[in-house]
Amino acid sequence: MRENVLTLSNVPLGNFCTYHTGGNARLMKIVYDVSGLVESAEGDSVVIGCGSKLLVSDDGYDGTVILMRISGIRRTDDGVYAYAGVPLPALSRYCENNSLKGLAWASGIPGTVGGAVKLNAGAFGFCIGDYVKSVDVFDGKGIVTLTKEELGLSYRQSNFDGIVVGAELTLTEGSKEELLELRRNYFLKRRSTQPRGFSCGSVFKNGDLAAGHYIEQAGLKGLKQGGARISDKHANFIINDGCATSKDIYTLIRTAKAEVKSKFGVMLSEEVIYLGKF
Ligand SMILES: Cc1cc2nc3c(=O)[nH]c(=O)nc-3n(C[C@H](O)[C@H](O)[C@H](O)COP(=O)(O)OP(=O)(O)OC[C@H]3O[C@@H](n4cnc5c(N)ncnc54)[C@H](O)[C@@H]3O)c2cc1C
Repeated sequence: MRENVLTLSNVPLGNFCTYHTGGNARLMKIVYDVSGLVESAEGDSVVIGCGSKLLVSDDGYDGTVILMRISGIRRTDDGVYAYAGVPLPALSRYCENNSLKGLAWASGIPGTVGGAVKLNAGAFGFCIGDYVKSVDVFDGKGIVTLTKEELGLSYRQSNFDGIVVGAELTLTEGSKEELLELRRNYFLKRRSTQPRGFSCGSVFKNGDLAAGHYIEQAGLKGLKQGGARISDKHANFIINDGCATSKDIYTLIRTAKAEVKSKFGVMLSEEVIYLGKF
């Protein structure tokens, strides 16, 4: 029988984030169910899902990283309940297979349900908040159910504390053919506009104009630092070519902010989440 929590020490966090950079976590607790989570959460702990929005310090994280792997999806009367560790592409595919419409846009986002709720992930004009009915959160003492209003969701952010355990999403009926077509279209759009390679998706939040527009107009496309570069295809992506350090990536982030501020008077705000000391 599988343990409900697996504890590891000195774990290279580069293996658990899509940038594939960064140092070690002093402790990692991989949680597979709610009781594992309850026994793992402590003062200095931070929860991660797929690490697809993270830049981890090269010095690592001197605390406990909880790797959310509570999994499972079930049908509800008007949609689905998905546990926090479910990857969004898997959830999107489940919905497609069950003729449930609403999450085709999420098929190309390499995060978990928990991370998506925390950051109100979205694409192509949709976001997870459009579909959230309620969310179960571990608040350090027990599980509480928060309504959508209580989550304080806005553009790529939320305003609640605690660890997402699962989310109830309201969806509508659709045809499998229609959903497959939608997924294909989103895939092709992503393919044509976004670079491949190790990244965290968009580094900065968009404002009145896209962050990538300012970075491009500042002439920074293709700028390199060590093994990191600002993508030629999409200026809001910084790519690790395989040998970047987090410091390389961080240096490009700071350069982009400074250049855009000095040229356009616009202060870019990070969408990427820093873990550890920078
Ligand atoms: C190629 C690529 C494309 C992307 N495209 C998009 C896109 O189109 N739209 C978009 O919005 N994002 C996009 N992203 C970014 C990322 O996938 C999303 O932000 C995703 O929701 C992050 O989920 P995660 O599980 O990886 O979170 P992580 O990166 O692991 O964590 C991000 C934050 O969420 C918190 N968190 C994680 N799990 C939980 C939980 N269970 N409870 C509470 N807090 C939690 C963490 O503490 C951290 O603060 C892209 C990333 C990549 C690499």
